[in-house]
Amino acid sequence: MEVRPEPDNPQIPISEREHRFHNKIEHNSTFDFIVVGAGSAGCVCASELAKANCSVLLIEAGEELQNSSLIRIPRNSHKLWRTEADWHYNTVPQKHLNNKILPAERGKTLGGSSSINHLIYVRGSPEDYNRFAYQYGLGEDWSYKSVLTEFKELEKVDADRLGLSSSTTISSRGTNGELEVNIPYPAKQDAVSFVNAGVEAGYARNIDYNGSHGQAGFSLSQHQVSPLSHRRQDAFNCFCEPICRKDNFHILSNTFVRKVLLNENNNKAIGIEIEQFDEIFNLYCAKEIVLSAGSINTPQILQLSGIGPRKELNRLDIPCKVDLQGVGRNLQDHPSSVIAFMLKPEVSLNTNRELEYAAVQSLGYIQSPSIIADEKRDNIKYGCDLQLNLSSGFVSSTRKFFTPIATDNPELWNHDKTLIRQILIEKAQEQERLTENVVPPQVIAIVVMLNLCRSRGQLTLNSNDPHDKPNIDPNMFENENDLNAMMHGLREAYKISQQPSLQKIIQQATLSKEVLDNDDLLKEYLRKDTGSTWHHCGTCCMGDVHNNPNVVCDSKLKVKGIDGLRIADASVLPFCTSGNINTAILMIGKKCGKYIVSEYGGGMMKKSNNTNNNYTARL
Ligand SMILES: Cc1cc2nc3c(=O)[nH]c(=O)nc-3n(C[C@H](O)[C@H](O)[C@H](O)COP(=O)(O)OP(=O)(O)OC[C@H]3O[C@@H](n4cnc5c(N)ncnc54)[C@H](O)[C@@H]3O)c2cc1C
Repeated sequence: MEVRPEPDNPQIPISEREHRFHNKIEHNSTFDFIVVGAGSAGCVCASELAKANCSVLLIEAGEELQNSSLIRIPRNSHKLWRTEADWHYNTVPQKHLNNKILPAERGKTLGGSSSINHLIYVRGSPEDYNRFAYQYGLGEDWSYKSVLTEFKELEKVDADRLGLSSSTTISSRGTNGELEVNIPYPAKQDAVSFVNAGVEAGYARNIDYNGSHGQAGFSLSQHQVSPLSHRRQDAFNCFCEPICRKDNFHILSNTFVRKVLLNENNNKAIGIEIEQFDEIFNLYCAKEIVLSAGSINTPQILQLSGIGPRKELNRLDIPCKVDLQGVGRNLQDHPSSVIAFMLKPEVSLNTNRELEYAAVQSLGYIQSPSIIADEKRDNIKYGCDLQLNLSSGFVSSTRKFFTPIATDNPELWNHDKTLIRQILIEKAQEQERLTENVVPPQVIAIVVMLNLCRSRGQLTLNSNDPHDKPNIDPNMFENENDLNAMMHGLREAYKISQQPSLQKIIQQATLSKEVLDNDDLLKEYLRKDTGSTWHHCGTCCMGDVHNNPNVVCDSKLKVKGIDGLRIADASVLPFCTSGNINTAILMIGKKCGKYIVSEYGGGMMKKSNNTNNNYTARL
């Protein structure tokens, strides 16, 4: 159905969209600001600039798919993986995971990865941001007290619906932002059982893990889904769509950025080289360029532009313009592993499919003994290093988890669990191609995710061809402490499953006591079982530019040694925040937009086409 462009409905009708977002731009056009990548951070940053009436161009390599039900209906998003809306990335073989290659989906459409993700809404722990501020030299502006302003500005929560009654709880949440946050309602039986079981195992009940009491404890999970329309709240839909008719806001989809152009002295970013409709040409910016191409593509674009570790660039025959050691380093991702459980035959969780928009409907935050030891040793407060998610129903459709097919194939439960998982994954993939319906859930899983991982990997290029996929190496479990923390997580997950509330609904577990009780066997299980959580970050990290040679951006997100170039996306995170990272990245986009507006003021220079601009790009 077409959306009519009425004053109270600012959405662009389908018939106009092709022209609006997929049009030809004249060579050498100049804008005040260019934002590269319309993903989570890019959309927020560009909208911040557009709202301040700056002339801004937002460029996206992927297609415009906002009217596709695959994006709009949250539970469909996995069907976009490995389609034209995904970059089709994989990691390199993971040395410490028995050389397993992990899929690394990344969104390639207006909305970026926020259009294909699982929608779990987590700010991260206050301790993460305080560490950014004081341990990583970013200063007060990145402390939790300060970033709370942006978190509140971004979100729109319905306090009643979230069950936030006291005024202190409400005061830490935003009610007027563009992004609607929702909670499963009514909560599903397994989600409630999991929270209760966490409490029975001795953990706190936490009404709001994004609120004033911090993360620790067990809660229902919050999601980026509209409570009324049940539509996915992706970054483009929330932040750009409502203002995309503004004259000063230009959005181009299907436009691939090859590199950033620097002036003759290599100290100022003056434009970008793009590919559009099979043509390669330049666009220019009068003020600044913001790279928001994500943690894989931003370091790639920088290196292709000659900004990166000199030795690496020499290897690739790319002239080194600015030697920045940290570009591509420090790559990390949250490792995750699962224990799955068969439900008792009499239990059915298939209550209301409409509400099954989320794979994860409840979660718990705990600390492992290794992080508690670190706290004592470093005299620093860390957040919760483990997140336990209860997944059911819709999890059947993700390749990572067990599927209801197990019920149709009981013999599978008696075999090697890794093999079973592989078979189930393949069957699930086949089945999902065949059916539009979510299979009724008969299995639930506790997903254990390591929030604060110590392992660090890197992103390197294969060649100087911008279309060549980079080498993505999160180097999972390179640090043995990560394995130890994950072992603790799996054991706690099992302990929670043994509590009365979960025992009422589950029967057989996929991980035996024999394996759980034996360090060697459990480590082996983890090496086979662990996968990505799609939280890649850290490849252009921000920090103390004066004292840390691996830092790429300063606290205002400016790339070291270059004027007019900032980065706003997951790559600037010094470390993965505690929990799913999208909310932190939206906040970074907001901060970047605000920094720029406060530096230049709002208001617009005229967009000029075919300008004889004064810049000489050295290509
Ligand atoms: C499958 C999946 C599930 C996830 N689940 C959750 C979850 O439940 N909760 C959560 O908090 N987080 C989740 N995440 C993580 C979160 O969505 C991402 O970390 C976040 O969206 C990244 O934001 P970003 O701005 O850094 O990059 P992106 O959102 O990936 O945006 C980068 C954009 O730049 C574009 N681009 C890249 N290169 C170029 C180029 N050369 N030219 C032009 N454009 C370019 C891309 O196409 C993309 O649109 C998930 C991620 C995935 C992939």
